[in-house]
Amino acid sequence: MSGFQPEKIRVDFPTLSRRVRDRRLVYLDNAASTLKPRPVIDRMTRYYEDEVSNVHRGAHYLAEQGTIAYEAARAKVAAFIGAASPAEVVFTRGTTESINLVAQTYGRANLNAGDEILVSELEHHSNIVPWQMIAGERGARVRAIPVTDSGEIDFAAYSRLLSTRTRLVAISWCSNALGTVTDVKAFVDAAHAVGARVVVDAAQAIQHLETDVQALDCDFLAFSGHKVYGPYGIGVLYGRAELLEAMPPYQGGGSMISEVAFEKTTYAPIPQKFEAGTPSISAAIGLGSAIDYVNALGLGNIEAHERGLLEAATRALRSVPGLRIIGDSPRKAAIVSFVFDGIHPSDIGSLVDQEGIAIRAGHHCAQPLMRRLGVPATARASFSVYNSLEDVEALRSALVKAKEFF
Ligand code: PLP
Repeated sequence: MSGFQPEKIRVDFPTLSRRVRDRRLVYLDNAASTLKPRPVIDRMTRYYEDEVSNVHRGAHYLAEQGTIAYEAARAKVAAFIGAASPAEVVFTRGTTESINLVAQTYGRANLNAGDEILVSELEHHSNIVPWQMIAGERGARVRAIPVTDSGEIDFAAYSRLLSTRTRLVAISWCSNALGTVTDVKAFVDAAHAVGARVVVDAAQAIQHLETDVQALDCDFLAFSGHKVYGPYGIGVLYGRAELLEAMPPYQGGGSMISEVAFEKTTYAPIPQKFEAGTPSISAAIGLGSAIDYVNALGLGNIEAHERGLLEAATRALRSVPGLRIIGDSPRKAAIVSFVFDGIHPSDIGSLVDQEGIAIRAGHHCAQPLMRRLGVPATARASFSVYNSLEDVEALRSALVKAKEFF
């Protein structure tokens, strides 16, 4: 973890200076939401203090400033994910809305009776339920791609499921429940070989891995601002320009039209066609700042730092008597899911919370995965740029104490 100084980075995150249960906060629930650095908070405040106005509508100075900042944020996102153009970046409320948008527009226009959508067993519910909904409406079928015992999407099984009936494949780049990182490019290539489109859920990848949508060759990619040091209420749908152009709009209203008449309404060019109504302007601008923040740290440095934390946490947790790590893929982001003999995960969460340590316990919105792995729930520690070996040790010692308590 050389060169990367979490103690210096911690200072950028005001939440980390507060005490929790009269202790130093050890925040290990980063897969749920990362904390927000000062530059993001300040940038959003500046928008509200100096630039507040609606975008794409006003003729006045403030509206112009707000629109410039909003579109600059879009350009930052486009560069960050390697999109060919900012027009391929649609602002949404988050990953969930991005996936629903694809299901309700691309899905409704392109799925027919007998078509298949392949969805892996390790998906978050937001990459399962929207597909079930549109499949039900269109007479299409959702088929589950099995997961191996180590928590990876089974590529061989996937290859067997792929056929000319496959219209769409929806997979996570990184599992929120286990941390497994999928070789998305291999899945994309295999899908394209049968003429299927691929939707990548990058909610847990965008903050850990360099994203290049053109190199991945994916058709759609979704993520949320709040998991990459940005604000709530903003997310991104990347879509290949030619697909977005051909898709019908998602919601109707202001800003998404070219001309409205009772006889016929025409729509705005992409991406505005998909951004009906007043968008989450301050949040988009905040996301732009979050991207600046990540770029300044460098995703390569972030990856190396988090890999060190993952290795240390895996070693430390393995040493705790009675603890079993769930998911042991050799390619993982800094997420460790675990269960304890005889202690329910939610009790683990409550016990370590008494020590000022924030982890997550539950099914992680991945009930099919929990069922597949034969556990009702897990406890999950997820690490980020401001975490340190001290945090790993705090977790280990709190878990040993929890074990003694039971
Ligand atoms: N996909 C994955 C892998 C996630 O981890 C999450 C959130 O935890 C989501 C989708 C949904 O994200 P959001 O609730 O921000 O829409």
